[in-house]
Amino acid sequence: MPAKIISGMEIREIILQEIKNEVQKIKASHGVVPGLVTILVGENPASISYVSLKIKTAHELGFHEIQDNRPETLSEKELLDLIGQYNRNEAVHGILVQMPLPKHMDEKNIVSAIDPDKDVDGSHPVNLGRLMMGGSAVRFPPCTPAGIQEMLVRAGVPIPGAEVVVVGRSNLVSKPIANMLLQKGSHANATVTVTHTGTRNLADHCRRADILIVAAGAPGLIKPEWIKPGACVIDVGVNRVGEKISEKTGKKVAILRGDVDFEAAREIAGWITPVPGGVGPMTITMLMRNTLQSLKFKLDPA
Ligand code: NAP
Repeated sequence: MPAKIISGMEIREIILQEIKNEVQKIKASHGVVPGLVTILVGENPASISYVSLKIKTAHELGFHEIQDNRPETLSEKELLDLIGQYNRNEAVHGILVQMPLPKHMDEKNIVSAIDPDKDVDGSHPVNLGRLMMGGSAVRFPPCTPAGIQEMLVRAGVPIPGAEVVVVGRSNLVSKPIANMLLQKGSHANATVTVTHTGTRNLADHCRRADILIVAAGAPGLIKPEWIKPGACVIDVGVNRVGEKISEKTGKKVAILRGDVDFEAAREIAGWITPVPGGVGPMTITMLMRNTLQSLKFKLDPA
């Protein structure tokens, strides 16, 4: 039987509706809504489209949203000052600085300048430390890993006791998801292996996985024979492999593929995420949830 498709698009709609309901309740009871600011420096086309989508989603949820676009010539000092202003702004509960930044800026300095209590992207060293501690220490899990865990839970994939193999060791996706799934708790408690280009016999590790999470950025890396029958395959990779004309708009759009051969893998796996439409839509959704969470922490600091 072909694998069940875990649709990020469908799960996203359910979660966004849950967030919208909560926003309305908080607005009625406390007279406030979550405030999210996105700071974009320069005119990278991909960044412009990511930021626009984030702001559009925030707007649809009833958030107070600010899109602060700055020129490429902005200095690091000016950006740090701007972040300081938003740190002090009571109406802002989440600050997101869109990456990548221009080369004359040090991304670590910028991320570290954000108030950890407004770091809804979960990238500040304090929040990464909290993530390692697990349990109630966690404030803002990074958005893509949080989306992956949410998909596993909502799709009913058994996590406790599972053998999880993560392909990749990025700070953005792989290290956080590995940490999250090895914590104690009903949505975790897995045995986790993290692999990378220095791993010997990658195929053997993958074949052991009950849950295989691939974030390598290498199209077709995972061969169907590396997948354990019935396993859950989460394909995080987004690779541009060509261009096509969109039937909807008539414009040129990228052809996207994951790191897994989807058609072959779905005949073996028990669950699988497509690319596009899998993990991707969950990332912005989790950003919205973290921003709502930030307001809730502020209203109820206990
Ligand atoms: P990254 O910084 O691009 O690093 C890739 C990781 O994969 C590295 O750790 C690398 O190992 C490992 N790797 C690459 N080729 C490999 C191979 N042949 N065998 C074993 N390991 C290999 O990672 P990332 O930022 O997590 O991005 C990974 C992919 O996910 C990209 O396609 C990116 O576009 C996508 N992504 C998607 C979302 C989303 O929302 N859907 C979000 C973030 C990222 P080494 O460390 O040894 O070099």
